[in-house]
Amino acid sequence: MEKIYMDNNATTAVKPAVLEAMLPYFCEQFGNPSSVHWAGQMVGGAIDTAREQVAKLLNCSAAEVIFLSCGSEGDNHAIKGTAEALKEKGNHIITTTVEHPAVLETCEALEKDGFEVTYLKVDQDGMLDLAELEAAITDKTILISVMWANNETGNIYPIDEIGQIAKKHKVRFHTDAVQAVGKVPVDVRKANVDMAVISGHKIGAPKGIGAMYLRRGTRISRFMHGGHQERFRRAGTHNVPGIVGLGLACELALENMDKDYTYVRNLRDKLEQGILSNIPDVKLNGHPNADLRLPNTLNVSFDFIEGESLLLFFDMKGIAASSGSACSSGSLEPSHVMGAMGVDVVLAHSSTRFSLSAENTESEVDFVLEELPKIVQRLRDMSPLYQRADPTPLSCDECRMVQKACV
Ligand SMILES: *Cc1c(COP(=O)(O)O)cnc(C)c1O
Repeated sequence: MEKIYMDNNATTAVKPAVLEAMLPYFCEQFGNPSSVHWAGQMVGGAIDTAREQVAKLLNCSAAEVIFLSCGSEGDNHAIKGTAEALKEKGNHIITTTVEHPAVLETCEALEKDGFEVTYLKVDQDGMLDLAELEAAITDKTILISVMWANNETGNIYPIDEIGQIAKKHKVRFHTDAVQAVGKVPVDVRKANVDMAVISGHKIGAPKGIGAMYLRRGTRISRFMHGGHQERFRRAGTHNVPGIVGLGLACELALENMDKDYTYVRNLRDKLEQGILSNIPDVKLNGHPNADLRLPNTLNVSFDFIEGESLLLFFDMKGIAASSGSACSSGSLEPSHVMGAMGVDVVLAHSSTRFSLSAENTESEVDFVLEELPKIVQRLRDMSPLYQRADPTPLSCDECRMVQKACV
């Protein structure tokens, strides 16, 4: 069975060139870059190169790049580090209801420590009201944290405009750029961002490596205590192979950005149009204007269907996608992003995300478009909700299909 991977917002495969670049740093060039001897010196240059590569993608200087273990660490570091460093100045943070848990739960933790957090609502398309954002700023506001692009819907937020608002009110601005980076231009200078976080495994580098842009002169408390790595900003022996991999992944992302955008967007648009025009009772989640979404992401809800069962049926066909409900993880709560957009609970449970990459092909999209209507119909025939909506009895063939599906 052919395997089709359309879950690239969850993680990506390491690019072969990235793996190859990393390999020498496991055995031959194994030194600790903090050591003064030959073994340490061998790898120092590789870290400098990677720092330059990351800086080039984000349009900052290399000295403003801090390597850390993952996107979640970066979000925690940026938010908690700011809260701790600026707590004399104020205790108010502004974020949104659609952030990644690495931001949301960090803010919730800070609320327990006496910080006040405003969670900005989004409209039915998942977009923010910038007037509401500006109105939320008080003289106690120390941080605005808004993601560059949303992992579930692909919505791209107007980071440049938010940066202007932050600058006007002299409030620090952090953005979780994990999903945006590599897919759309992320220019931290132009956007007037103070802190931006990226993660290796979402852009063809390995899991367990990330980086944060910290604008020169931005005071932030230490998050990891220990060694003096990263100019005392992040303790811990460097993950040299990971850093080398992240650097090259950033260079490749910059090199291929325009080409990949067009290629992936065409595939995504074909998938989107095919689903919306061939399957009844389906709803797009996210901004209807595809220009305002990441080129690779499509999130749709199929009425009368539970997302997790859809994924299981997909899996039987070798298709990997992801769902806004996670019954199997023990949580019956549908996605907080769908909830924030006001998507009805039943539809939220059926929300399904396809996130493509440049590795996907048109024939894979064709295969999904061929199989999906059949799977949706099958599941609807099994759904008591759907049968109430359409009381036509099942045919014998259909009954057999449902029985087979239930096994
Ligand atoms: C994946 C993701 C993260 C977390 O990154 P990790 O490296 O897995 O910790 C944070 N924010 C967004 C938007 C993500 O998609």
